[in-house]
Amino acid sequence: MPFSEVLGHARPLGLLSRSIARGSLPPSLLFTGPEGVGKRLVAQAVAEALNCLSPVGASTEACATGTLVAPAIGVAPASVPADLPFDACGACAACKRIAKGTYPDVLRPGASDTGVIKIEPVREVVAAAAYRPFEGRRRVIIIDDADRLNADAQDALLKSLEEPGASSVFILVSARPETLLPTIRSRCARMRFGRLSAAEVTRVLVERHGMDPDEAHAIAAVADGSPGRALEAGSKAYREARTAALAALRTAAKASSPRARLQAATGLTAGKPTSAGEREELATRITMLASLLRDVALVSQGGDPAELANGDLAADLEELGAAFGSERALQAFAAADRAISALRRNASPKVVAAWLSVHM
Ligand SMILES: [Zn+2]
Repeated sequence: MPFSEVLGHARPLGLLSRSIARGSLPPSLLFTGPEGVGKRLVAQAVAEALNCLSPVGASTEACATGTLVAPAIGVAPASVPADLPFDACGACAACKRIAKGTYPDVLRPGASDTGVIKIEPVREVVAAAAYRPFEGRRRVIIIDDADRLNADAQDALLKSLEEPGASSVFILVSARPETLLPTIRSRCARMRFGRLSAAEVTRVLVERHGMDPDEAHAIAAVADGSPGRALEAGSKAYREARTAALAALRTAAKASSPRARLQAATGLTAGKPTSAGEREELATRITMLASLLRDVALVSQGGDPAELANGDLAADLEELGAAFGSERALQAFAAADRAISALRRNASPKVVAAWLSVHM
């Protein structure tokens, strides 16, 4: 996928495109940022830009290696945007094979069954990096979830990161870079990727994954800026969590005494038997609850229905808005936020659910 088709991340994409255009791309890169925001996709876009057979824009690097003809100086093709001066076409044989994972000059050392990236696959890519690419201009070694490299594998990488072969680029991708050896981190140019906006997540879900727009909008509101997280959770799981959160809100709305409100807690905690699963499921439900409460507050203040995260539940939200009122909805929203923090700090799911139900 070319840079121009990646949603969000304007800053890192611009930096990468400009440095490829100037021929100054650092040979060792570390892409960091939350899980599921598109770091891996951008690593692939770099590989495509470096090896595309008919790239958009001029690259001094590509011209220097003799694989591309230099355009007339000062004449940039009309289709090149200023912020992305160099990009892959996304359609040539090289781009297509890179996207499919069958291009011989893009290497990805794999993890073992236990999820650890051991020294053997790293040794193989390190050896390959010393030679010229088979058919492309640059060999690109993408190490996804680089924090899974064990200590030996990281040691084996060090020298290559410091002095990679002239035609090789290493891209380490990690959501947990602090677990990498400091010597690894210091040898790589770091690029930070942020969370996407809810609107961008919605676009990814609808345009790339064919999700129903209303559903995508609702999921995006609670996906924490990560299309990957939204997809991984799966729309069915999210729908179930939202249904449970809605039921808990209805119970809380009707309940007048704290004892009756505790009833709402049982609806929230009816989760998986294991404690890890229970914690995760409760966190998802409370996140849904917070999203619904924000909508309830909006409805009871007479806000714009277009701004609702859960627009498909407009009738339910109206009903809850009348029962809660905006002040109580906002207080409950704040309580949900505190409950999620408490869960992250390892508080007991049952205690958190009970506390929340009496505070909403
Ligand atoms: Zn191409």
